[in-house]
Amino acid sequence: MPTETLPRKPRRSLVGLGREALAAEMAEFGAEPFRARQLWHWIYHRGAADFSAMTTLSKPLRDRLAGRYDLSRPAISRALTSSDGTCKWLLRFADGEEVETVHIPEEERGTLCVSSQVGCTLSCSFCRTGTQRLVRNLTAEEIVGQVMIARDALGEWPSPRDERQVTNIVLMGMGEPLYNYENIAAALRIVMDPEGLSISRRKITLSTSGVVPMIRRCGEELAVNLAVSLHAVRDEVRDRLVPLNRKYPIAELLKACRLYPGASNARRITFEYVMLKGINDSPGDARELVRLLADIPAKVNLIPFNPWPGAPYECSSDAAIKAFSDIVFAAGYSAPVRRPRGRDIFAACGQLKSASLRPRRSARLPLPAL
Ligand code: SAH
Ligand code: SF4
Repeated sequence: MPTETLPRKPRRSLVGLGREALAAEMAEFGAEPFRARQLWHWIYHRGAADFSAMTTLSKPLRDRLAGRYDLSRPAISRALTSSDGTCKWLLRFADGEEVETVHIPEEERGTLCVSSQVGCTLSCSFCRTGTQRLVRNLTAEEIVGQVMIARDALGEWPSPRDERQVTNIVLMGMGEPLYNYENIAAALRIVMDPEGLSISRRKITLSTSGVVPMIRRCGEELAVNLAVSLHAVRDEVRDRLVPLNRKYPIAELLKACRLYPGASNARRITFEYVMLKGINDSPGDARELVRLLADIPAKVNLIPFNPWPGAPYECSSDAAIKAFSDIVFAAGYSAPVRRPRGRDIFAACGQLKSASLRPRRSARLPLPAL
């Protein structure tokens, strides 16, 4: 019977299925085991968005697959390019929810900043994403889809071996990745597969606001680079900036960092520190930071605060950032200041949000003074 006359069932996406899940799906479909390997190659190495492109498969098989499965990407609702070359894609999923993905080209590398959730539950007071209520976790398909969209847009198929525009991935977009661990792990296994998207774990950095109980597992199972959003050196300040600190205070967070599997002087943990005028940017704060990091293989990344409409903070002065950086540097840590990228299109750290989301009520209330 020709496929057109079959009753239409909702088609299932194969994107986001790991090797084992894809093999199981193909077994259930009645295809030989090597078909799963062929599909893997077409989907993740060649970037096929359509079964008709899979020329090593017979036409009847392609038609049968297309009748049951789908390879579609999230829709691009808007694409913006900054004057500095940074690209931001607002992506829309089947249920209408949206997230942002950002590509930051640099001379020696290109970094893709990937989102893990629609919104975020954690409401850090300096973060624009935190002003939105969490709608949901992204699925593995939607996380991998962000990388595939970037490869599509940048013309990077088949997965290039060298001269790539997406060399690095940072899980620093919207959401807290360690609150969506299973889907992040499934997606990263696909991203890291050498016969798939083929981006090495050494080029992947997961940033967490400090979900202490998940840190060890992340290191053991994924072995990606860890970045920790520290932002303050005293609990009473961090409690207000990163409310998760009330649950997992600084000492517990740093203990988990000391135990992070695979951290070494060659693979240091990055401590992110957003520079907020008069809040966390004094020379005393810098000295305390150095003391706290004393026995951790660490590097520090100073992030000038990126403003957003209604934000209750200001960025520290250049002089304060320089003085802070000098103190950390003099203690033997690398302490580069992250150059803001894509500010003109609201693509810089902490500026992401999706228009589909309503603000949470608390975001409209004034913040307590520090
Ligand atoms: N939820 C994770 C990852 C996403 S945020 C986390 O918090 O680590 C990525 C980085 O941008 C974090 O270090 C975050 O604290 C920082 N950030 C958030 N808002 C910012 C802002 N307005 N300006 C500068 N950095 C910001
Ligand atoms: Fe969520 Fe990270 Fe923003 Fe905090 S900084 S609200 S954890 S996305």
